[in-house]
Amino acid sequence: MSTTDPISTQNHGAIPSLDRLLREPVLAQLLSRTGRQLVLEEARAELDQLRGNLRQGATADASLDGLCRRIEARVGAVLQMSLQPVFNLTGTILHTNLGRAPLAEEAIEAMSAVARGATNLEFDLAKGKRGDRDDHVEDWLCRLTGAEAATVVNNNAAAVLLMLNTLANRREVPVSRGELIEIGGAFRMPEIMRRAGCRLVEVGTTNRTHLRDFSEAMTPRTGTLMKVHTSNYVVQGFTAEVPDTDLAALAHDHGLPYIVDLGSGALIDMEALGLPHETTVRETLGQGADLVSFSGDKLLGGPQAGLIAGRAELIARLKKNPLKRALRVDKMTMAALAATLRLYADPDTLKTKLPTLRLLTRPLADIQAVAERLRPILQERLGEGLEVEIAPCTGQIGSGSLPVESLHSIGLTISPLPRGKRGAGGKLKRLASAFRALPAPVLGRITGDALHFDLRCLEDETAWRAQLSELRGE
Ligand SMILES: *Cc1c(COP(=O)(O)O)cnc(C)c1O
Repeated sequence: MSTTDPISTQNHGAIPSLDRLLREPVLAQLLSRTGRQLVLEEARAELDQLRGNLRQGATADASLDGLCRRIEARVGAVLQMSLQPVFNLTGTILHTNLGRAPLAEEAIEAMSAVARGATNLEFDLAKGKRGDRDDHVEDWLCRLTGAEAATVVNNNAAAVLLMLNTLANRREVPVSRGELIEIGGAFRMPEIMRRAGCRLVEVGTTNRTHLRDFSEAMTPRTGTLMKVHTSNYVVQGFTAEVPDTDLAALAHDHGLPYIVDLGSGALIDMEALGLPHETTVRETLGQGADLVSFSGDKLLGGPQAGLIAGRAELIARLKKNPLKRALRVDKMTMAALAATLRLYADPDTLKTKLPTLRLLTRPLADIQAVAERLRPILQERLGEGLEVEIAPCTGQIGSGSLPVESLHSIGLTISPLPRGKRGAGGKLKRLASAFRALPAPVLGRITGDALHFDLRCLEDETAWRAQLSELRGE
């Protein structure tokens, strides 16, 4: 086709044919590395583009060398992985856009162990018959929360959907107006409820909801009572919310279950680690909740998953809902979750083995030492015109955990010199973009007239330093 193209043969006989191109050593090598089809497709696309340019009278480089280079670049771009590791120096530890909890080594090993081949995911080895994939984590979830039973789905949004659809399809669910939350990324409680087939009955007001608001909303059509942990904001000042115990009692008086979307789902006492208090799953169940749902990749520190713990009879109903099949997790998630939960067996080593807790409890002196080691190196690399300083900063846990609590940390700030000069904003944006273009992109935060790197989450200093020489165009 390319050799008989009238334009290339009549007007631009210089355009090499596809066959001619593929005989070039560069492309022949590329072909043996990446396979014939991809190189062929990109070579054709490059030739098409060249012809198009020439047809429009534009000047274009039709040399063999130039074409080979461009085809190689095209193939490289197609094969480049889009999803890749980055350095999260934003100060938000559990950053949803950056994939939330970093996994423990034990979880990573467990995942790769099952990834390669067949596993007993749904096979009971002792009995020699079909098993349930939840079996791999259920006992541990019960042990850590005090629940009778537990199940796992793809994320906490799925967990909420499954609970509501199972317990209150075509029925009413009263929820406090102060809890009709939106979590980033289109999780809006009223919409989830509608999709679950429930009719939301708003009770109380934004800042105050009382038990009587709920009791007045009870009808024969009520399906369940639900509390939603207001994870990513707080209602402060003149406020009132109904305690779990009262809501549980009201639900039980009407023969209905009481369910709680806890969101973050701490499994241990965070205060014992020097962190702000966060209601645990065990506490919530102890206050009368029949089901509690929470995320696997928030404070728990595991893979993305939605966990539901609570009464055995209700968990059994969830498992029978066809939606459970649609929302189930794969063997890798199960492996990572099972390995993560086992780390909780030893609270003394948990803090060092589980990256989420290790980062959240990282001593300031440690972070300061990182800053002192890296400041001169970064300053040297950036040269005059930019000043690198060590400065205290505040980060946050993220993912809706303890939204108003800030984590004191230490960071590096990079400011263009002289300070206050016009055009500094553009310079900072270009600098931030240069850091994002590194082989392992470095993500910080621009505030005021500086680029900030919170060093709390920087553990692999060597890798971070090693790529600084590749920083371009700052
Ligand atoms: C985070 C959160 C969710 C959503 O959980 P995902 O695991 O992100 O799906 C739902 N409800 C609450 C209260 C949350 O904090």
